[in-house]
Amino acid sequence: MLTTMSMKNAYLLSVMDDLKVKSAHEPEFLQAVEEVLESLEPVVETDPRYERQNIIGRMVEPERVVMFRVPWVDDGGKVQVNRGYRVQFNSAIGPYKGGLRLHPSVNLSVIKFLGFEQVFKNSLTTLPMGGGKGGSDFDPKGKSDGEVMRFCQSFMTELQRHIGPDTDVPAGDIGVGAREIGFLFGQYKKIRNEFTGVLTGKGLSYGGSLARTEATGFGLCYFADAQLRDNGQSFAGKRVVISGSGNVAIYANQKCVQLGGKVIAMSDSNGYIVDENGIDYKVIQEIKEVKRDRIKTYLDYVPSARYVEGCSGIWTVPCDIAMPCATQNEIGENSAKTLIANGCIGVFEGANMPSTPGAIAAYQAAGILFSPAKASNAGGVATSGLEMSQNSERLSWTFEEVDAKLKGIMEGIYAACAAAAEKYGMKGNIQAGANIAGFLKVADAMLWQGI
Ligand code: NDP
Repeated sequence: MLTTMSMKNAYLLSVMDDLKVKSAHEPEFLQAVEEVLESLEPVVETDPRYERQNIIGRMVEPERVVMFRVPWVDDGGKVQVNRGYRVQFNSAIGPYKGGLRLHPSVNLSVIKFLGFEQVFKNSLTTLPMGGGKGGSDFDPKGKSDGEVMRFCQSFMTELQRHIGPDTDVPAGDIGVGAREIGFLFGQYKKIRNEFTGVLTGKGLSYGGSLARTEATGFGLCYFADAQLRDNGQSFAGKRVVISGSGNVAIYANQKCVQLGGKVIAMSDSNGYIVDENGIDYKVIQEIKEVKRDRIKTYLDYVPSARYVEGCSGIWTVPCDIAMPCATQNEIGENSAKTLIANGCIGVFEGANMPSTPGAIAAYQAAGILFSPAKASNAGGVATSGLEMSQNSERLSWTFEEVDAKLKGIMEGIYAACAAAAEKYGMKGNIQAGANIAGFLKVADAMLWQGI
């Protein structure tokens, strides 16, 4: 017996043990699976079909994994090679859907954990989207536009064989924003000679959706607001710390302030800034989206602010609400305990799997509010789903229309997670509720479709 978890169900334990052998070198993937399987215990025990049909064993195995060579020429004329990935995890409820990540830390374990999470997240949105994820260990930081374009063209030259508007629809993630999506779309169109909604997060002039850029950050705040209100709280007057300063973090800041909160700290991978007067998201937008510069240059705009080298110290800044919006495992057990000791009442996840299992245990022991990423950051993919709908209709909806739908979806996800948690005897445990509600729809579709 390899397992050390609190899980007791023999079927779930055997699936997990098997996976630990087969995926021994994939720690992030194992972490994500273990977290979900622990929540599914009461579900599996009340419906024998899941074990009989080996639904869990099938769900932890991706339907397809594509790994490929990505050669490209740098500005000096030298040939560089990166590794590309697309993991098509589960298509039971719709075409594979999930972002592409470009970051030196990308490997198969990271992409599999993200793809696995995506299956449950997409199910929670209630839209017809399966789960997938992709990316490369290419680092766009410090590269010229020409280098990024040549990389994206080479990446898509292979990826285009595996995707399509009814098969697999990638989007952005860390390191993939409007610039990269544009280059990827241009290459797809050139090779396939078709103008389709094969990617989301597109520019507005060629099929993008209004409010997609803001969607993950806005959605996170709509979700957090619903959870806070359900617990007799609100954003009003709260001191908020947001890690990261990318797409999710910037728009989480904007919506948080609109809802009455004050964002006092933000970060990038080098360090963090603290501004007790509140950080204006437009300044961060200018630094990160326009100038592609480092967050420490915030001091050029607001000299009274403070910059601290090293990103993990951001969780020592006393706050009421923490929103991790940078990357996986960025809050460990010690950081979680520091947040709690400093009076934090809730952690709402914008990044994927930003809290380690030790951190989650600390939140639960302290009884603070916690929203798991697969529920609270689902607004991005939900709005990607809305972009796909608009592309199919050949129509564009207004910002207000999309934003209203996003808000409704996020409130619906919160309600579904809360209801599932209560139904299975874990009232208030939104983490378990998210795993269960996300699972049930996918599992039901798999049962209907046979093996
Ligand atoms: P961006 O590339 O726009 O921004 C990422 C931010 O996180 C940057 O500030 C970056 O700093 C920081 N960061 C990245 N890697 C690390 C690291 N290893 N250590 C410390 N800081 C790091 O990405 P997004 O905002 O799109 O994504 C952020 C998170 O949100 C990811 O977990 C992603 O999977 C998740 N997410 C994104 C969605 C979207 O729609 N974009 C949807 C759902 C989830 P630096 O600039 O120094 O690299």
